[in-house]
Amino acid sequence: MSKTPLIFIGHGSPMNAIEKNTYTDAWKELGKKLVKPKGILVISAHWYTRGFKVNDQPEPKQVYDMYGFPQELYQFKYQVAGSSVLADRVRELGQGKVEVDNSWGIDHGSWSVLAALFPEADVPVVQLGIDINSGASDYFELGKLLAPLRDEGYLVIASGNIVHNLRTIDWGSQSCTRDNIRFDDYVRDKLVVKDFQALIDYPPSEAVVYPDHYYPLLFLLGMLEEHDHAELFVDGCVYGSISMSGYIFK
Ligand code: ZN
Repeated sequence: MSKTPLIFIGHGSPMNAIEKNTYTDAWKELGKKLVKPKGILVISAHWYTRGFKVNDQPEPKQVYDMYGFPQELYQFKYQVAGSSVLADRVRELGQGKVEVDNSWGIDHGSWSVLAALFPEADVPVVQLGIDINSGASDYFELGKLLAPLRDEGYLVIASGNIVHNLRTIDWGSQSCTRDNIRFDDYVRDKLVVKDFQALIDYPPSEAVVYPDHYYPLLFLLGMLEEHDHAELFVDGCVYGSISMSGYIFK
């Protein structure tokens, strides 16, 4: 079995679950090219946990973890099966760093992008949370431990945003501030030359004041093999402070 690719999606607004735009079109196109995996592990920027957690319910709850959006978004259904087999494997490979937590489910960090990538909702999904007590290198190290999942037919998706700052958000803008674009470019340049240390020790920027949406990328970097390359499959920056850049690593 060949290694599965790794995917980083800049998920942006939860409305992407039901809207059609450049980004959702790119996600759909990417989805068509993917071999259907045995299961999907999503590290979602929207599940904040104390310690690293995975869910192992057979039917994880769809969590509507966003506020103030149109009613139709709260009626959008993406009901998938879970996978205790994948969750067990994550715990096993995680060497005691990952525990089960079924208090949450599948949140919009997962379902808003999976709806485009796997519209049939026919692949089991397990979520991994963002440990609020861990730092950049911890995500990278956990990624290293979980790298064997790529040899076992599982797809790993990191859902966040390389630039993400809700404090400075401007919903009317279809671009980003210069500083934010600079950070997005910095990440792209370092990915090209595979300077992962420069991404773990990222420079201070308003783009990552709260790094919860950035950390999922570091998790993927830990899973990479030497010969893997980053391919930017969609880019763009919106609302002043949200980068939509998406990468596939293979
Ligand atoms: Zn988000």
